[in-house]
Amino acid sequence: MTQHLKIAVLAGDGIGPEITDQAVRVLQQLSAQGHFGLTLEQAPVGGVGYRASGHPLPQATLALAKSADAILFGAVGDFSLDTLPRELRPEQAILGLRKELGLFANLRPAMIYPELAGASTLKPEVVSGLDIMIIRELTGDIYFGQPRGIRVLENGEREGFDTMVYRESEIVRIGHVAFQAARKRGKRVCSVDKANVLETTQLWREVMTELGKSYPDVALTHMYVDNAAMQLLKAPKQFDVVVTGNMFGDILSDEASMLTGSIGMLPSASLDAKNKGLYEPIHGSAPDIAGKNLANPLATILSAAMMLRYTFGLTQAADAVEAAVRKTLSSGMATPDIYRDGCQRVGTVEMGDAVLAAMN
Ligand code: NAD
Repeated sequence: MTQHLKIAVLAGDGIGPEITDQAVRVLQQLSAQGHFGLTLEQAPVGGVGYRASGHPLPQATLALAKSADAILFGAVGDFSLDTLPRELRPEQAILGLRKELGLFANLRPAMIYPELAGASTLKPEVVSGLDIMIIRELTGDIYFGQPRGIRVLENGEREGFDTMVYRESEIVRIGHVAFQAARKRGKRVCSVDKANVLETTQLWREVMTELGKSYPDVALTHMYVDNAAMQLLKAPKQFDVVVTGNMFGDILSDEASMLTGSIGMLPSASLDAKNKGLYEPIHGSAPDIAGKNLANPLATILSAAMMLRYTFGLTQAADAVEAAVRKTLSSGMATPDIYRDGCQRVGTVEMGDAVLAAMN
Protein backbone atom coordinates (compact mmCIF):
# COMPACT_ATOMS: atom_id res chain seq x y z
CA MET A 1 0.00 0.00 0.00
CA THR A 2 1.25 3.52 -0.78
CA GLN A 3 2.51 5.33 2.29
CA HIS A 4 0.58 8.50 3.14
CA LEU A 5 2.55 11.44 4.50
CA LYS A 6 0.98 14.16 6.62
CA ILE A 7 3.34 17.10 6.59
CA ALA A 8 3.01 20.42 8.41
CA VAL A 9 4.50 23.25 6.38
CA LEU A 10 5.65 26.13 8.58
CA ALA A 11 7.12 28.65 6.14
CA GLY A 12 7.78 31.49 8.59
CA ASP A 13 9.42 34.81 7.79
CA GLY A 14 11.55 36.47 5.14
CA ILE A 15 12.55 34.02 2.43
CA GLY A 16 10.77 31.18 4.31
CA PRO A 17 7.66 31.14 2.07
CA GLU A 18 9.66 31.32 -1.20
CA ILE A 19 11.97 28.45 -0.37
CA THR A 20 9.37 26.17 1.20
CA ASP A 21 7.16 26.70 -1.89
CA GLN A 22 9.87 25.06 -4.01
CA ALA A 23 10.31 22.13 -1.61
CA VAL A 24 6.53 21.65 -1.55
CA ARG A 25 6.49 21.48 -5.36
CA VAL A 26 9.13 18.75 -5.20
CA LEU A 27 7.05 16.73 -2.69
CA GLN A 28 3.93 17.21 -4.79
CA GLN A 29 5.68 15.98 -7.92
CA LEU A 30 6.99 12.88 -6.13
CA SER A 31 3.48 12.22 -4.89
CA ALA A 32 2.07 12.66 -8.42
CA GLN A 33 4.71 10.18 -9.62
CA GLY A 34 3.27 7.63 -7.19
CA HIS A 35 6.01 7.57 -4.53
CA PHE A 36 3.54 8.37 -1.71
CA GLY A 37 0.23 9.99 -0.84
CA LEU A 38 0.48 13.50 0.57
CA THR A 39 -1.43 15.84 2.85
CA LEU A 40 0.17 19.25 3.35
CA GLU A 41 -1.10 21.74 5.93
CA GLN A 42 0.31 25.22 6.36
CA ALA A 43 0.39 27.29 9.55
CA PRO A 44 1.94 30.61 10.63
CA VAL A 45 5.12 30.63 12.72
CA GLY A 46 7.76 33.15 13.84
CA GLY A 47 7.09 36.81 13.10
CA VAL A 48 4.15 35.83 10.92
CA GLY A 49 2.76 33.80 13.83
CA TYR A 50 3.24 36.70 16.23
CA ARG A 51 1.44 39.09 13.91
CA ALA A 52 -1.40 36.62 13.37
CA SER A 53 -2.03 35.66 16.98
CA GLY A 54 0.37 37.43 19.34
CA HIS A 55 2.80 34.51 19.76
CA PRO A 56 5.62 33.20 17.54
CA LEU A 57 4.41 29.64 18.09
CA PRO A 58 0.60 29.91 18.04
CA GLN A 59 -1.33 27.11 19.78
CA ALA A 60 -2.91 25.99 16.50
CA THR A 61 0.52 25.80 14.83
CA LEU A 62 1.91 23.72 17.69
CA ALA A 63 -1.13 21.44 17.55
CA LEU A 64 -0.63 20.95 13.81
CA ALA A 65 3.09 20.24 14.29
CA LYS A 66 2.22 17.64 16.94
CA SER A 67 -0.37 15.90 14.81
CA ALA A 68 1.73 15.82 11.60
CA ASP A 69 4.16 13.01 10.75
CA ALA A 70 6.89 15.54 9.98
CA ILE A 71 7.43 19.28 9.72
CA LEU A 72 8.90 21.22 6.85
CA PHE A 73 10.19 24.46 8.32
CA GLY A 74 11.35 27.52 6.36
CA ALA A 75 12.96 30.15 8.58
CA VAL A 76 12.02 32.59 11.30
CA GLY A 77 13.40 36.02 12.12
CA ASP A 78 12.13 39.52 11.61
CA PHE A 79 14.37 42.40 12.64
CA SER A 80 11.37 44.70 13.14
CA LEU A 81 10.29 42.46 16.04
CA ASP A 82 13.70 42.38 17.78
CA THR A 83 12.52 44.84 20.43
CA LEU A 84 9.86 42.42 21.70
CA PRO A 85 10.49 40.61 25.00
CA ARG A 86 12.72 37.57 24.30
CA GLU A 87 9.90 35.02 24.73
CA LEU A 88 7.86 36.68 21.97
CA ARG A 89 10.64 37.01 19.40
CA PRO A 90 10.23 34.96 16.21
CA GLU A 91 13.27 32.73 16.93
CA GLN A 92 11.56 31.42 20.07
CA ALA A 93 9.24 29.39 17.82
CA ILE A 94 12.00 27.00 16.90
CA LEU A 95 13.08 26.53 20.52
CA GLY A 96 9.44 25.93 21.49
CA LEU A 97 9.00 23.30 18.76
CA ARG A 98 12.21 21.49 19.80
CA LYS A 99 11.07 21.41 23.41
CA GLU A 100 7.40 20.54 22.82
CA LEU A 101 8.18 17.82 20.28
CA GLY A 102 11.19 16.36 22.12
CA LEU A 103 13.48 16.93 19.12
CA PHE A 104 16.75 15.92 20.75
CA ALA A 105 18.90 14.95 17.75
CA ASN A 106 20.10 17.50 15.26
CA LEU A 107 21.55 16.07 12.06
CA ARG A 108 23.51 18.39 9.84
CA PRO A 109 25.24 17.05 6.79
CA ALA A 110 28.05 19.16 5.38
CA MET A 111 28.89 18.03 1.91
CA ILE A 112 30.50 19.57 -1.10
CA TYR A 113 29.10 19.26 -4.60
CA PRO A 114 31.96 19.08 -7.09
CA GLU A 115 30.67 22.20 -8.87
CA LEU A 116 30.87 24.20 -5.63
CA ALA A 117 34.29 23.11 -4.35
CA GLY A 118 35.60 26.54 -5.34
CA ALA A 119 33.02 28.28 -3.13
CA SER A 120 34.75 27.14 0.05
CA THR A 121 37.34 29.39 1.63
CA LEU A 122 39.54 26.30 2.03
CA LYS A 123 41.64 24.90 -0.80
CA PRO A 124 39.58 22.69 -3.17
CA GLU A 125 41.83 19.68 -2.50
CA VAL A 126 41.10 19.94 1.24
CA VAL A 127 37.32 19.96 0.81
CA SER A 128 36.45 18.31 -2.49
CA GLY A 129 34.53 15.11 -1.83
CA LEU A 130 33.73 16.25 1.73
CA ASP A 131 30.74 14.43 3.22
CA ILE A 132 30.36 14.81 7.00
CA MET A 133 27.34 14.34 9.23
CA ILE A 134 27.43 16.34 12.45
CA ILE A 135 25.02 15.03 15.07
CA ARG A 136 24.37 17.46 17.90
CA GLU A 137 22.40 16.71 21.04
CA LEU A 138 19.77 19.41 21.16
CA THR A 139 17.83 19.41 24.40
CA GLY A 140 20.39 19.09 27.18
CA ASP A 141 23.81 20.41 28.26
CA ILE A 142 24.73 23.85 29.53
CA TYR A 143 21.95 25.47 27.47
CA PHE A 144 19.26 23.94 29.68
CA GLY A 145 21.07 22.96 32.91
CA GLN A 146 19.92 24.44 36.21
CA PRO A 147 20.85 26.45 38.21
CA ARG A 148 21.80 29.34 36.00
CA GLY A 149 21.73 33.06 36.33
CA ILE A 150 23.58 36.24 37.22
CA ARG A 151 24.01 36.90 40.93
CA VAL A 152 25.62 39.62 43.00
CA LEU A 153 28.40 38.48 45.29
CA GLU A 154 28.98 39.78 48.81
CA ASN A 155 31.59 42.22 47.56
CA GLY A 156 29.04 43.66 45.07
CA GLU A 157 30.65 42.06 42.02
CA ARG A 158 28.30 40.32 39.57
CA GLU A 159 28.86 36.67 38.67
CA GLY A 160 27.30 34.74 35.79
CA PHE A 161 26.86 30.97 36.06
CA ASP A 162 25.41 28.06 34.08
CA THR A 163 25.31 24.33 34.69
CA MET A 164 26.65 21.75 32.27
CA VAL A 165 24.77 18.52 32.86
CA TYR A 166 24.09 15.29 30.93
CA ARG A 167 22.25 12.23 32.16
CA GLU A 168 23.45 8.83 31.01
CA SER A 169 20.13 8.17 29.23
CA GLU A 170 20.51 11.37 27.21
CA ILE A 171 23.98 10.35 26.06
CA VAL A 172 22.82 6.83 25.16
CA ARG A 173 19.89 8.23 23.17
CA ILE A 174 22.00 10.52 20.97
CA GLY A 175 24.71 7.85 20.75
CA HIS A 176 22.26 5.40 19.16
CA VAL A 177 21.30 8.03 16.57
CA ALA A 178 24.97 8.51 15.67
CA PHE A 179 25.85 4.82 15.43
CA GLN A 180 22.75 4.08 13.38
CA ALA A 181 23.46 7.00 11.03
CA ALA A 182 27.04 5.76 10.62
CA ARG A 183 25.75 2.34 9.61
CA LYS A 184 24.01 3.99 6.64
CA ARG A 185 27.20 5.89 5.71
CA GLY A 186 30.93 5.30 6.23
CA LYS A 187 30.59 3.27 9.48
CA ARG A 188 32.75 5.65 11.52
CA VAL A 189 31.75 7.74 14.54
CA CYS A 190 33.95 10.38 16.14
CA SER A 191 32.62 11.40 19.55
CA VAL A 192 33.72 14.90 20.54
CA ASP A 193 34.11 15.92 24.17
CA LYS A 194 36.36 17.72 26.64
CA ALA A 195 36.83 14.73 28.90
CA ASN A 196 40.24 15.97 30.06
CA VAL A 197 38.64 18.95 31.82
CA LEU A 198 34.88 18.47 32.26
CA GLU A 199 33.30 15.68 34.32
CA THR A 200 30.09 15.89 32.31
CA THR A 201 31.97 14.98 29.16
CA GLN A 202 34.09 12.40 30.96
CA LEU A 203 30.79 10.61 31.53
CA TRP A 204 29.91 11.30 27.87
CA ARG A 205 33.08 9.50 26.78
CA GLU A 206 32.52 6.54 29.13
CA VAL A 207 28.93 6.07 27.95
CA MET A 208 29.84 6.38 24.26
CA THR A 209 32.60 3.81 24.71
CA GLU A 210 30.20 1.36 26.40
CA LEU A 211 27.54 1.94 23.74
CA GLY A 212 30.08 1.46 20.96
CA LYS A 213 30.46 -2.17 22.02
CA SER A 214 26.94 -2.87 20.74
CA TYR A 215 27.96 -1.55 17.31
CA PRO A 216 31.03 -3.66 16.49
CA ASP A 217 30.65 -2.83 12.79
CA VAL A 218 31.12 0.90 13.48
CA ALA A 219 34.57 2.29 14.31
CA LEU A 220 34.39 4.66 17.29
CA THR A 221 37.04 7.29 18.00
CA HIS A 222 37.13 10.16 20.49
CA MET A 223 38.45 13.66 20.05
CA TYR A 224 38.71 16.70 22.31
CA VAL A 225 36.62 19.59 21.06
CA ASP A 226 39.54 21.98 20.62
CA ASN A 227 41.32 19.46 18.42
CA ALA A 228 38.07 18.76 16.52
CA ALA A 229 37.72 22.46 15.73
CA MET A 230 41.28 22.38 14.32
CA GLN A 231 40.91 19.11 12.45
CA LEU A 232 37.71 20.32 10.74
CA LEU A 233 39.80 22.99 9.04
CA LYS A 234 43.00 20.99 8.61
CA ALA A 235 41.72 17.65 7.33
CA PRO A 236 37.90 17.62 7.32
CA LYS A 237 37.62 14.54 5.13
CA GLN A 238 38.86 12.34 8.00
CA PHE A 239 35.36 12.56 9.52
CA ASP A 240 32.26 10.55 8.72
CA VAL A 241 29.76 10.99 11.60
CA VAL A 242 30.65 13.40 14.41
CA VAL A 243 28.53 13.21 17.56
CA THR A 244 28.70 15.76 20.34
CA GLY A 245 26.76 17.67 22.98
CA ASN A 246 24.61 20.73 22.54
CA MET A 247 27.17 23.50 23.04
CA PHE A 248 30.11 21.91 21.22
CA GLY A 249 27.72 20.83 18.46
CA ASP A 250 26.34 24.34 18.08
CA ILE A 251 29.81 25.64 17.31
CA LEU A 252 31.22 22.70 15.33
CA SER A 253 28.14 22.33 13.11
CA ASP A 254 28.37 25.99 12.06
CA GLU A 255 32.10 25.58 11.46
CA ALA A 256 31.50 22.46 9.36
CA SER A 257 28.76 24.14 7.34
CA MET A 258 31.15 26.91 6.37
CA LEU A 259 33.58 24.37 4.89
CA THR A 260 31.12 24.15 2.03
CA GLY A 261 31.02 27.92 1.53
CA SER A 262 27.34 28.05 0.63
CA ILE A 263 24.75 28.60 3.33
CA GLY A 264 21.92 28.20 0.81
CA MET A 265 22.84 24.55 0.17
CA LEU A 266 22.72 22.95 3.60
CA PRO A 267 19.75 21.05 5.03
CA SER A 268 19.17 19.81 8.56
CA ALA A 269 16.95 17.49 10.53
CA SER A 270 15.89 17.54 14.18
CA LEU A 271 14.51 14.18 15.27
CA ASP A 272 12.59 12.78 18.23
CA ALA A 273 12.91 9.29 19.68
CA LYS A 274 10.58 7.86 17.00
CA ASN A 275 12.27 9.58 14.06
CA LYS A 276 9.53 12.15 13.71
CA GLY A 277 11.35 15.26 12.62
CA LEU A 278 11.49 18.91 11.85
CA TYR A 279 13.39 19.60 8.65
CA GLU A 280 14.80 23.00 7.79
CA PRO A 281 17.61 24.73 5.95
CA ILE A 282 20.40 25.83 8.28
CA HIS A 283 20.17 29.46 7.21
CA GLY A 284 17.86 32.12 8.58
CA SER A 285 15.12 34.27 7.08
CA ALA A 286 17.57 36.39 5.00
CA PRO A 287 15.49 39.59 5.14
CA ASP A 288 18.02 41.29 2.84
CA ILE A 289 16.90 39.19 -0.14
CA ALA A 290 13.32 38.28 0.83
CA GLY A 291 10.64 38.61 -1.82
CA LYS A 292 13.15 39.19 -4.63
CA ASN A 293 13.33 35.71 -6.15
CA LEU A 294 17.03 35.59 -5.17
CA ALA A 295 17.06 32.94 -2.43
CA ASN A 296 18.57 29.54 -3.07
CA PRO A 297 15.84 26.94 -2.42
CA LEU A 298 18.19 23.93 -2.55
CA ALA A 299 18.82 23.72 1.22
CA THR A 300 15.07 23.47 1.77
CA ILE A 301 14.59 21.00 -1.08
CA LEU A 302 17.43 18.89 0.40
CA SER A 303 15.74 19.16 3.82
CA ALA A 304 12.64 17.62 2.24
CA ALA A 305 14.87 14.82 0.90
CA MET A 306 16.20 14.24 4.43
CA MET A 307 12.61 14.03 5.65
CA LEU A 308 11.82 11.32 3.12
CA ARG A 309 14.95 9.40 4.18
CA TYR A 310 14.90 9.75 7.98
CA THR A 311 11.24 10.01 8.97
CA PHE A 312 9.58 8.03 6.20
CA GLY A 313 12.30 5.60 5.12
CA LEU A 314 11.58 6.50 1.46
CA THR A 315 15.14 6.00 0.27
CA GLN A 316 14.31 5.88 -3.42
CA ALA A 317 12.38 9.15 -3.34
CA ALA A 318 15.12 10.81 -1.28
CA ASP A 319 17.77 9.60 -3.71
CA ALA A 320 15.71 10.96 -6.62
CA VAL A 321 15.61 14.44 -5.09
CA GLU A 322 19.32 14.48 -4.28
CA ALA A 323 20.19 13.24 -7.76
CA ALA A 324 18.01 15.97 -9.28
CA VAL A 325 19.82 18.62 -7.22
CA ARG A 326 23.20 17.27 -8.41
CA LYS A 327 21.99 17.26 -12.02
CA THR A 328 20.71 20.84 -11.71
CA LEU A 329 24.02 22.04 -10.31
CA SER A 330 26.05 20.26 -12.95
CA SER A 331 23.84 21.77 -15.66
CA GLY A 332 25.31 25.12 -14.61
CA MET A 333 22.22 26.72 -13.05
CA ALA A 334 23.04 28.91 -10.08
CA THR A 335 21.23 31.30 -7.77
CA PRO A 336 23.34 34.38 -6.97
CA ASP A 337 24.81 32.90 -3.74
CA ILE A 338 26.48 30.04 -5.65
CA TYR A 339 27.09 31.82 -8.93
CA ARG A 340 30.43 31.09 -10.64
CA ASP A 341 31.80 32.17 -14.01
CA GLY A 342 30.13 30.37 -16.88
CA CYS A 343 26.94 29.59 -14.94
CA GLN A 344 23.41 30.57 -15.81
CA ARG A 345 22.14 32.92 -13.12
CA VAL A 346 18.60 31.97 -12.10
CA GLY A 347 16.11 32.87 -9.40
CA THR A 348 14.40 30.85 -6.66
CA VAL A 349 11.49 29.73 -8.82
CA GLU A 350 13.65 28.83 -11.84
CA MET A 351 15.90 26.76 -9.61
CA GLY A 352 12.81 24.92 -8.36
CA ASP A 353 11.66 24.45 -11.98
CA ALA A 354 15.06 22.95 -12.87
CA VAL A 355 14.96 20.45 -9.99
CA LEU A 356 11.44 19.39 -10.96
CA ALA A 357 12.52 18.94 -14.58
CA ALA A 358 15.54 16.89 -13.48
CA MET A 359 13.21 14.55 -11.58
CA ASN A 360 11.24 13.59 -14.67
P1 NAD B 1 20.67 34.44 7.49
O1 NAD B 1 21.08 33.02 7.44
O2 NAD B 1 19.24 34.74 7.34
O3 NAD B 1 21.46 35.25 6.34
C1 NAD B 1 22.89 35.37 6.31
C2 NAD B 1 23.33 35.74 4.89
O4 NAD B 1 23.15 34.59 4.04
C3 NAD B 1 22.50 36.86 4.26
O5 NAD B 1 23.34 37.65 3.46
C4 NAD B 1 21.48 36.13 3.41
O6 NAD B 1 21.03 36.87 2.28
C5 NAD B 1 22.27 34.89 2.98
N1 NAD B 1 21.37 33.75 2.78
C6 NAD B 1 20.74 33.02 3.74
N2 NAD B 1 19.99 32.07 3.20
C7 NAD B 1 20.15 32.17 1.87
C8 NAD B 1 19.63 31.46 0.75
N3 NAD B 1 18.76 30.43 0.89
N4 NAD B 1 20.00 31.83 -0.49
C9 NAD B 1 20.86 32.85 -0.66
N5 NAD B 1 21.40 33.55 0.34
C10 NAD B 1 21.04 33.23 1.60
O7 NAD B 1 21.25 35.04 8.85
P2 NAD B 1 21.06 36.49 9.49
O8 NAD B 1 21.02 37.53 8.41
O9 NAD B 1 22.06 36.58 10.55
O10 NAD B 1 19.65 36.45 10.19
C11 NAD B 1 18.43 36.87 9.60
C12 NAD B 1 17.30 36.48 10.52
O11 NAD B 1 17.18 35.05 10.54
C13 NAD B 1 17.49 36.89 11.98
O12 NAD B 1 16.28 37.35 12.47
C14 NAD B 1 17.94 35.59 12.66
O13 NAD B 1 17.61 35.58 14.02
C15 NAD B 1 17.15 34.57 11.88
N6 NAD B 1 17.70 33.19 11.89
C16 NAD B 1 16.78 32.19 11.87
C17 NAD B 1 17.20 30.86 11.79
C18 NAD B 1 16.15 29.80 11.70
O14 NAD B 1 15.03 30.08 11.36
N7 NAD B 1 16.46 28.53 11.99
C19 NAD B 1 18.57 30.55 11.72
C20 NAD B 1 19.49 31.63 11.71
C21 NAD B 1 19.04 32.94 11.79
